[in-house]
Amino acid sequence: RAPCRAGVMAEVMAAACAPPPDVDTDDCLRDYRHLFSPDILAGQVAFITGGGSGIGFRIAEIFMRHGCRTVIASRNLQRVSEASQKLVAATGQQCLALCVDVRQPQTLVAAVEEALKRFQRIDILVNNAAGNFLCPASALSFNAFKTVLDIDTLGTFNTSKVLFEKYFRDHGGVIINITATLSYRGQALQVHAGAAKAAIDAMTRHLAVEWGPNKIRVNSLAPGPITGTEGYRRLGGQSAEQASMWDTIPLQRAGTKTEIAHSTLYLASPLSSYVTGTTLVVDGGSWLTSANSFPALLGIASSSAK
Ligand code: NAP
Repeated sequence: RAPCRAGVMAEVMAAACAPPPDVDTDDCLRDYRHLFSPDILAGQVAFITGGGSGIGFRIAEIFMRHGCRTVIASRNLQRVSEASQKLVAATGQQCLALCVDVRQPQTLVAAVEEALKRFQRIDILVNNAAGNFLCPASALSFNAFKTVLDIDTLGTFNTSKVLFEKYFRDHGGVIINITATLSYRGQALQVHAGAAKAAIDAMTRHLAVEWGPNKIRVNSLAPGPITGTEGYRRLGGQSAEQASMWDTIPLQRAGTKTEIAHSTLYLASPLSSYVTGTTLVVDGGSWLTSANSFPALLGIASSSAK
């Protein structure tokens, strides 16, 4: 018997909030159903910092499943090389693994030159590399604060500038900066990462304005808590889940790496051809409602440090 109209509507509405399948480890998805056109990034090349793990790995996979070749770059060459093998095996696309430290511009220059030698083009840059941990400001060393800004903020500027000079200035391109919602409500124990990501969101707007005439779109994507990531593990995601802390999020769950990758795919694709200088928040509404509980976060920080 055909479901009634109300039943069909309820199913459609539930599907619009249902997470796509994901795996918690740094492995490719076992099944994938295309929602976007499978060739939406055909012929393109994406340079993804921190693409060997977590969110960056899944972004590389989803881009490759949509016809894109990728360059994944981070400090640990073995990690990106192993990731590249998995990505190629699962998608049949090409993936180049390179060693960079985003704090060192000369490593970025060498990597971008090697990527251009291999693929002759780079269309998309995803600034995803970052470092983070929970720490009260009073206990944060001067050096720890500086290190997070060095990797997140300076790293994003360094990589964007090298890509601009080597390719985007003359050919156009898309830059997506992975940021966070930490600064929106002054998240406790996160002054370092919150300040670093807020500066990147500002950089997004500055570069969108300066580089728009060069046909370069620049946007930020701010994830909420995302399962199956180092960030989630370190920031106490599991214990928050057990304590039903996610029930306060409007969509009542943490997000998945595939959901972040799908939103990144939208920003990278021609579907967002008139979108620049903005931040797409992908957090199930989390920052609007989640408690900023200092004692609860301190509990997570001390238990994850054990
Ligand atoms: P992750 O797996 O730890 O990813 C970070 C990546 O950055 C690693 O692959 C790491 O590789 C690379 N990296 C770190 N320092 C680097 C450096 N100096 N130069 C080059 N690469 C460097 O973490 P994730 O949780 O997937 O996070 C990915 C992004 O999402 C980050 O920007 C993070 O701030 C953001 N985010 C995550 C969440 C979450 O819930 N997970 C929430 C909000 C925002 P190497 O160690 O090999 O260098």
